[in-house]
Amino acid sequence: MSAVTDQPLGMSNQPLGTASQPGPSYNREDWASAFVNVELELDDVPLTAVRGEIPVGLNGTLYRNGPGRLERGGQWVHHPFDGDGMVAALRFEQGQLHLRNRYVRTEGWMAEEAAGRMLYRGVFGTQKPGGAVANAFDVRLKNIANTHVVRLGDNLLALWEASSPHALDPESLETRGLSLLDGVLKPDEAFSAHPRFDPGHHGEPRMVTFGVKTGPRSTVRLMEFATEGPRAGQLLSDRSDSFKGFAFLHDFAITPNWAIFLQNAVDFNPLPFLLGQKGAAQCLRSRQGGQAQFWLVPRDCGAFAGQSPRLIDAPDGFVFHHLNAYEEGDQLVVESIFYADFPSIGPEMDFRAIDFDLIPEGLLERCRIDLTSGSISTERLSERCCEFAMVNPEREGLKARYGWMAAAEREQGNDPLQVIKKLDLITGERKVWSAAPRGFVSEPVMVPMPGGAEDAGWVLTLIWNGARRGTDLVILNASDLTEQAIVELPLAIPYGLHGSWASA
Ligand code: FE
Repeated sequence: MSAVTDQPLGMSNQPLGTASQPGPSYNREDWASAFVNVELELDDVPLTAVRGEIPVGLNGTLYRNGPGRLERGGQWVHHPFDGDGMVAALRFEQGQLHLRNRYVRTEGWMAEEAAGRMLYRGVFGTQKPGGAVANAFDVRLKNIANTHVVRLGDNLLALWEASSPHALDPESLETRGLSLLDGVLKPDEAFSAHPRFDPGHHGEPRMVTFGVKTGPRSTVRLMEFATEGPRAGQLLSDRSDSFKGFAFLHDFAITPNWAIFLQNAVDFNPLPFLLGQKGAAQCLRSRQGGQAQFWLVPRDCGAFAGQSPRLIDAPDGFVFHHLNAYEEGDQLVVESIFYADFPSIGPEMDFRAIDFDLIPEGLLERCRIDLTSGSISTERLSERCCEFAMVNPEREGLKARYGWMAAAEREQGNDPLQVIKKLDLITGERKVWSAAPRGFVSEPVMVPMPGGAEDAGWVLTLIWNGARRGTDLVILNASDLTEQAIVELPLAIPYGLHGSWASA
């Protein structure tokens, strides 16, 4: 394979990348063909590469979570994010690869399996049959455990931010049940689906995460857990802070001294939800002229432990995900994917028919917060639509040179995600690997090579292969994005959300 520098690679059984051709880089039928139910649960199925070889140095398990069930009894979810969580585990061992997948046995999934129809409303607008009358005042939340999957102690946790994690067996993927993490959480307490993994800023590595209870005031609970040794899974620190205003906090970022939250300027009007007309997330609206704020919470292990949070006005826009954050002298630097507005799918819209041109694209920006003056400067790092970005996990919370992300094939404008991009965060140099025109990528997971350079290792991603209507695993060299292997999974998995790597 030749090195690629800003030169899209097509999959070799398909036409090469189409960046230079006019017109869209994909066809909508291919894109929409990923909206399927996962019909199989497989057990330790051995897989081989259809192209390339599975790297012998890659040893561990890639866990992926995402919506697996989008239709039941002839009724489709209103938004794929309402689909039941299905976890896939790809276990790598000395060049061998095995696949297992399981639905998370949530209370809602089991009840709906038995009934053969939808029994719950979804946060993103899925309604029970029977219209508003049947849905009004049903405020039960269906914990669908579909957003992320991480290893903590002896458990694999399937996360969904509005309620408790589900604990799974990391090997068999059997659901052990809802977990309160040895009494750390109260029943139904919110627990973010976006933990951050401190690689050892203060000695031992930690999982840092949060829960948010919102209303006219919002309380953010920041928790840090041990991840290694006999204490793995134990709570190491715990603080709660109360802030004025409604908060929709999906993600956050960490540095050695700070946990960084961005309170988007959004309002929540619960009335249409209560009246059975909309899902709860459809009741969020960007507040015109509203002021977003950074909430900077001192970490208990850092230099400002015990101090009050700092509040600093943030730039306009809406953020789901951050890439990374770090400290530089008296500045706190946060790199995030900004949208011009909160993207929502209204009650009358079909998610398969969305017009990408009408939805704002995600753009990577760097905010530099001066902690002395409270001033902020921002800088756009790329004009290309992107999502699902990460740095080398060893650089989490520290200044990183490189980021890996899913991006659009086109250099500008909003489109489905079809390329994996490596961005040099200092020089702006970029490399891409493209699955266009018939492939669609999901979140890339960067797996560092032990003891290697910052960009040494692999990038793993599941792609939807529109040509064969199935899911492929793509393994790239993290440094130059050359293709190492492509594995066709005997599964069709809809576009996923988040996943993680657990070393052997
Ligand atoms: Fe997320």
